[in-house]
Formats: sequence, structure tokens, C-alpha cells
Amino acid sequence: MKSQERNMNRVIALLSAVVVMVTATLPVAGQQPLVALKCGRLIDGIANSAQKDVVILIRGERIFNLGSGLAIPVDATVVDLSDHTVLPGLIDTHTHICLTPDNPDGNPVLYKSIPFRTIEGTRGARLNLEAGFTTLRDIDSEGANFADVAIRDAITQGLIVGPRLQVSTMAISITGGHMNLTGLAPHIDVPQTAAIADSPAEKIAEVRRQIKYGTDWIKIYTTGTIRHIDPDTHEPLSQMSLEEVKMIVDESARWRIPVAAHAYGGQGATNAILGGVRSIEHGFFLTDEQLHMMLRNGTFWSPTLSVYFPENEEKAKDPLRQKIVKSHKRVFQKAMKLGVKIAFGTDVGAFEHGTGALEFKTMVDYGMTPMQAIKSATMVAAELMQLQDDLGSLEVGKYADIVAVKGNPLTNIEALQQVAFVMKGGVVYKHN
Ligand SMILES: [Zn+2]
Repeated sequence: MKSQERNMNRVIALLSAVVVMVTATLPVAGQQPLVALKCGRLIDGIANSAQKDVVILIRGERIFNLGSGLAIPVDATVVDLSDHTVLPGLIDTHTHICLTPDNPDGNPVLYKSIPFRTIEGTRGARLNLEAGFTTLRDIDSEGANFADVAIRDAITQGLIVGPRLQVSTMAISITGGHMNLTGLAPHIDVPQTAAIADSPAEKIAEVRRQIKYGTDWIKIYTTGTIRHIDPDTHEPLSQMSLEEVKMIVDESARWRIPVAAHAYGGQGATNAILGGVRSIEHGFFLTDEQLHMMLRNGTFWSPTLSVYFPENEEKAKDPLRQKIVKSHKRVFQKAMKLGVKIAFGTDVGAFEHGTGALEFKTMVDYGMTPMQAIKSATMVAAELMQLQDDLGSLEVGKYADIVAVKGNPLTNIEALQQVAFVMKGGVVYKHN
């Protein structure tokens, strides 16, 4: 480079530094207030180690600047988190805000009105936000129809407090399949926990209906539930053919809507993966071959490990439950080793809202480093939800979705169960 050019470059660099300093220090009329977070330890969602003494400057709902030893402008409101670990807002990619754990038969549609379940959903949303989950992929309303859409929109409009939501309304199932209530006399017709769609035409119509009324995701049950698992072969019931999955994925893609598949394993999981779904939910019986298929297709996996732990001694003795838990661990370790994209997911709603962070401990117990588990609930989860340009890490320009905990989750992952500070879009929702 000629010396003249070099000098010119130096001048430009100097001038830009001055411009940055001026914009950072001089308040401009009508400009949104500036907030400075002093972070003792920072996990930014990108680096593989924590950084010390970083300052994050937030203007409005986004991160304006951040860096180690950054000068704090005089007009900034300072939030001192210097004895905390600061992280990107956590993301749970498998939740059910409209579900509560008080339905022993798993069918709230028979006992609760949808208005009541909507109110329960607002509570669930808030509790998860207060626990540090600033974004949820709520992966079906469990029979509460479009209550999740209403809650999402009410949060967006500031009517109620809650995380950023992507919702999936009613999961699509088949007659006699998952979330289709059995045991009643044939002449009794009751509302169902899933949208039942048997023929290809019914499936397409249901996809369009859900998209019309505001869903962000299509969720399909490509396998049945636990009661459908073959007692001899342990093959889950396959509920959709490859052609049907492809058809649903193609139709959804026309409207730019991704598809998630509840799939334990077996043919139903293969059909989901090869049919092009964006994520497999649960997957405790996935084979190595299916994990390789997921790698090739870029399919995400939301494992929801802890929800399958037996809830009492009787369940603990059940051989099928034992097999599920053991297999889940094996699949998790294999998926990690192969590099399958594992997005943090809990199934919260099946257990108490606000306790989803328990899943981190299981992931670490099963062999993830705490940093891997945190990235699974930040960058990887954001990528699954196609929000990686706005969320998932603490970088300039991204939303100021930020949480803080006492202690160091890199040495004690359980620290994430006690979130002390929650900011979403620059607004503080919790500060103990
Ligand atoms: Zn679920």
C-alpha cells in the first residue's frame, strides 16, 4: 500500500472513531434513552469462553455497543450486574404455555374453557419470561385452538407481559392417533387436543386454516404417543407417510411456514426427516442412521429429555419408561458426537411453567459442556426459529434480550435455575 493511501486510511479511521464517540456521548433530541449494563462476567452466545467486565450499551430495544472497558456515556442509566453472569435471553424451543400440569388425563379440552386456558397461557408465558426465557417456540396449544396466537399478539402489542412467541396452534394428527381421545362410545363426539386430519385433502385444508388464522409453525404428529408404541418391537406408530409429510412441508413452505414433527423414531421419524421438516421433537428412539439423515438434511432436534423422567416410583418400574430414558440418553450423546443441531427444548407445561431451566442440568449430566448447553438455548435455538439475525447472541444491532444470574453457570449449570435479571427488547422485566 502506498504511504499516501495508508495516511488516508488512518484519517478515515480516526474520523469514524470521532463519529462513534460523538454519537455515543451526545444525546440527540427524540432519541431513545440509553442504558448501560455493567457485566461482571459475560457469555455472549458466540465466544467459547466468558469475558470479564464488559459494558453493554442499549438504545431502545437493541444493543447499541458493547465491549470490555467501554466508557459509559454520562446520559446512560447504569444497571450494575458486576457481580453477575450475563447471558443472551434464553430460548426454549418446545413449550406449551396453554397447558398446565394439573390435567391427569392429559385432556384439558374437556374440563376448561378456551378463555380460561388463554388466561392460564398468559400466566405460563409470564412465568417462563421471569425464569429467563425471553423467547419460546410454543409448539402447539394442546387443544386450545388459537389461544396461543392471541397471547402472542397481546404480548407483541404490550397488553400483557411475556416472551417473544412463535406459535403452532393445533398439532395435526389422525383418527385414533396421538391426542385423539379414545375410550368413549363411538356416538360421542368431543373436541380434540389435536386437529384430526386423515386424508391428504384434509391435511392441506388444515394447514391452510392454521396459517390463515396466524400460526408461525405447523406441527405434525408423525408418530403416535407412548400408548401406541408396539410392546414387542418398540416401534412407534407411524402416523404419516413420506408423501403426506412432503405435501404438508411443501404447502407450508408456500406460505413461508416451517414444520415441526413430533416423532419418537421408527418409520414415522424417517418420513418426517426425509419429508423435510425443520425439527424433530423428542426423538428418543432415533437410530444412528436417522441422526445421519438429520445431519445431511440440516434437521434440528429438540430433545425434551427431562420430561420423560418417571414422575413416581410406579412409573420408574415401568420397563418401557426405563427403555425410553436410557435410549434418549444414548441418542443425545450420539447426536452431540455427530454434530446434529440440538436446540434446547423442555415440554414445559407438561410440568410447571418457569422451571424449564432444569433441562440444562440433564444436558450437562448427559455430557454437554455448560457452554454447549447454553448455546443450545441461545444461538442454536435462534437458528431453528430463523431469528439468528436478531436474537441468540449479544452483539451490536441485536435485540437487547439479556438475562443475568448470580454465580457462574460454566462451573455450576444449576445457576441458570435462579435468574436474577431479565431484559427483553431493552425493557427490564425482573431485577432481584
Ligand atoms: Zn410437547
